[in-house]
Amino acid sequence: MSEWVIEVESLNKYFGKHHVLKDIDFRVRFGEVVAIIGASGSGKSTLLRCLNGLEPIQSGRVLVDGVDIHQNGVDLNKVRQSIGMIFQNFNLFPHMTVLQNITLAPVKVKKIPLQEAQKIARNFLQKVGLLDKQDAYPWQLSGGQKQRVAIARSLAMNPKVMMFDEPTSALDPETVKDVLEVMKELAQEGMTMIVVTHEMGFAKEVADRVVYIDDGKIIEEGTPEEIFYNPRNERTRAFLSKVI
Ligand code: ADP
Ligand code: MG
Repeated sequence: MSEWVIEVESLNKYFGKHHVLKDIDFRVRFGEVVAIIGASGSGKSTLLRCLNGLEPIQSGRVLVDGVDIHQNGVDLNKVRQSIGMIFQNFNLFPHMTVLQNITLAPVKVKKIPLQEAQKIARNFLQKVGLLDKQDAYPWQLSGGQKQRVAIARSLAMNPKVMMFDEPTSALDPETVKDVLEVMKELAQEGMTMIVVTHEMGFAKEVADRVVYIDDGKIIEEGTPEEIFYNPRNERTRAFLSKVI
């Protein structure tokens, strides 16, 4: 097994004539926590979407655990099963209980028996602190609780890597902390994570590596100390002076 769960080489992505990702080289090791920071519109979400095959790419390669996912004949559904994806807006199924939300894919896709899937689901609900909400519907939960259910739902598929796209941006301030706390625990347990975030405190404290993207290019990457306290690039400095 290679040490890399994600390897991106010379990735270029266009929307029509708009060159959105420019010669991106990016790798993530198993067990690594990488924070991606950058202004709105710089290409962060598009990069994540290229990593799980939600967007076609125009040149370069994306390997997920060694598999070149943009090659013909690759089973993208299988690739996506190995990548947990957490968005701003949870995407829970509104007509299903918390437990049903979490057991759906393990039962349907992985053919895990319902009883066992429920056991797994309760385990992860406990982990995110919401075991008492297993029979609740999404509308009965706060934003932060919904996001923690979404995390439990992803974990129940046993992903190789978890990708988060601004997981706390749509939350009320008072529920942000609980979600970040769950993410921090995951990181400490060795989960491989790619986190697009505006939470600089989280990036500083939890990330092994911080990547700064501007206008579709990786401008600078390094440890949180390097990026936050000693950025080498002018643009990184300018960005950080605005957000910190
Ligand atoms: P970020 O997540 O950093 O805010 P995005 O990856 O969402 O940035 O967007 C990068 C650029 O690509 C932006 O200029 C955005 O308008 C453009 N873009 C994103 N998605 C699409 C799309 N589906 N079609 C056309 N342009 C898009
Ligand atoms: Mg985005």
